[in-house]
Amino acid sequence: MHRVVLSLGGNVGDRLALLKQALNLLVPQMQLIHASGIYETAAWGGNSQAPFLNQVLVMQTTMEAEQTLDFIQNIEDVLGRKRVLKWGDRTMDIDILYFDRSIIHTDRLQVPHGQMLSRNFILIPLTEVLPEEKHPQIPLTHRELLKRCEDRLSVRPWSDG
Ligand code: ADP
Ligand code: MG
Repeated sequence: MHRVVLSLGGNVGDRLALLKQALNLLVPQMQLIHASGIYETAAWGGNSQAPFLNQVLVMQTTMEAEQTLDFIQNIEDVLGRKRVLKWGDRTMDIDILYFDRSIIHTDRLQVPHGQMLSRNFILIPLTEVLPEEKHPQIPLTHRELLKRCEDRLSVRPWSDG
């Protein structure tokens, strides 16, 4: 069994419903261990405007890493993702933050996720679910990495009301 940590986010359509649908599509192949709260975050990278909802999920699966990537990319497609602009608007982006404590560098896969250390929309929910865990390549906990992160884009707990 492998532990996979996923980052989910979208800024188009019914964002909350899409996060719930993504989880429903994940669970046939993966068991949910722990879900962070949902955060609303300013769009990152300049190619999109509308704010995102983001969440981190800790899952278990028997799939290997590449198979997990195929599986989550299929869910992105099912949820209507159009791959147009890097960092652009999207209904659903699912990224693999960690796959066990593996370090993977292939054409398709960088694990741990390459940009996670510079993005509060990843580090804040990740610190919520795994505060004292250390990054596999850096001797710092998520809590410490968040403290050092210089991202100043807004990330706040999301509520419907
Ligand atoms: P981004 O997530 O950077 O906004 P995309 O979701 O369009 O961009 O992904 C682009 C490519 O990133 C995917 O086709 C995938 O092969 C690759 N990729 C590399 N590492 C990862 C990872 N850890 N999780 C998800 N996709 C990854
Ligand atoms: Mg992605």
